[in-house]
Amino acid sequence: MSGCCHHDHHKERAASPPPPRYRRVLWVALTVNAAMFAVEIAAGLTAASAALLADAIDFFGDAANYGVSLAVLAMAPVWRSRAALVKGLTMGAFGIFVLGRAAWGLGSGTVPEAATMGVVGALALAANLGVAALLYAYREGDANMRSVWLCTRNDAIGNVAVLLAALGVFGTGTAWPDLLVAALMGGLAVAAAVSVVRAARRELAQPATAAPAVTLEVDAPHHLRHRDRLG
Ligand SMILES: [Zn+2]
Repeated sequence: MSGCCHHDHHKERAASPPPPRYRRVLWVALTVNAAMFAVEIAAGLTAASAALLADAIDFFGDAANYGVSLAVLAMAPVWRSRAALVKGLTMGAFGIFVLGRAAWGLGSGTVPEAATMGVVGALALAANLGVAALLYAYREGDANMRSVWLCTRNDAIGNVAVLLAALGVFGTGTAWPDLLVAALMGGLAVAAAVSVVRAARRELAQPATAAPAVTLEVDAPHHLRHRDRLG
């Protein structure tokens, strides 16, 4: 999901709000990511696919990042850290839920609906590429372009993993490809959540005078997470 890192843009020049056109792009990105989060949760539950649930976590994280980018400009830096803390805790809870759901799937023997997984996985990939194209068109500066590329690549890897899991479920008639992908993505989400929470707590523990420098760190965990994902 291209959203991941786009707000680097604001870090570089936090004092000036983005141009209206770019703000509209951020709103589109927020809406698409929030919608895909809901779609993947609903589809994951109805199709019994833990991998779809796992993929939804990143849409949540990216939607939260866009929301923070749009909202935080008018807020004190401490609110960015608080928002990061809430985001981290929520992502961690989702990650643990997904791991639990995958473990339950191991025992239950329920086979996910491969067709639903394939359709929704493809839709997720299209959503990420579409948002990336928008952000790329309205990018500002090399750093932002680079984050769009990095995040899109890593989010696309997650979507492709879901598509491969769908293929695997279809081919084997078993749940294990779905559970394997879910366990991997859920584990990465929990690890990412831990680093987000740690960074946010570190920032909140610092004196207010250090706040401008502190906000620069808020997004680092998401970068790390995407690096981790690449392994
Ligand atoms: Zn992402």
